Amino acid sequence: MSFESLHLIEPILKALKEEGYTNPTPIQAQSIPIVLRGTDLLGCAQTGTGKTAAFTLPIIQLLEENKSFQKNKKIRALIVTPTRELAIQIGESFRAYARHTDLKYAVIFGGVGQSPQVSAIRSGADVVIATPGRLLDLMNQRLLSIADVEYFVLDEADRMLDMGFIHDVKKLLAALPHKRQSLFFSATMPPEIVKLAGSILKNPASVSV
Ligand code: AMP
Repeated sequence: MSFESLHLIEPILKALKEEGYTNPTPIQAQSIPIVLRGTDLLGCAQTGTGKTAAFTLPIIQLLEENKSFQKNKKIRALIVTPTRELAIQIGESFRAYARHTDLKYAVIFGGVGQSPQVSAIRSGADVVIATPGRLLDLMNQRLLSIADVEYFVLDEADRMLDMGFIHDVKKLLAALPHKRQSLFFSATMPPEIVKLAGSILKNPASVSV
């Protein structure tokens, strides 16, 4: 199995080569075709499996294939993760994998000043990588809108619930458009996670590593 055989576009293949990745990990090999064909995904995978690229690469490709030529700046993909460390890490991965595209992104988390984050949004981020609290905070201040999101990722859902973010996640879901593609990742699948996944995903394909 190669990245080429997953039908990834040249700018992504080039970036992967530069990263020194030769072959997709199992979660990537299974998830990428599902996401590229537009299907919702329920992924059971831990950090360290290559999960970040499993959702980032196909989203970069879908955004590139269907470029937005609208002048108004809309957030097209939203990745929500429980901690600032994860948000920063996903942001770094995104920067590396999307370096041969002109996609822009913003990383949003609490505990620091909001102005650099607001500037990144204002300069036209296509992709936002965020922790729930600061994201809702900026939404409440009308500094960003998630109403036009086409691709939504909920990362580390079990940790999100353990950290008490369930109400925040529900508020985010209420602000997202119904027509969207959603990807849901969790290391464990207890009943409350399965229930939450059921409220987010439509006819998902499941992947487990
Ligand atoms: P993650 O599970 O997304 O946190 O990724 C774990 C680590 O694996 C990160 O340091 C990635 O850069 C690396 N990685 C992800 N996919 C691949 C791949 N296909 N080949 C080699 N390394 C990878």
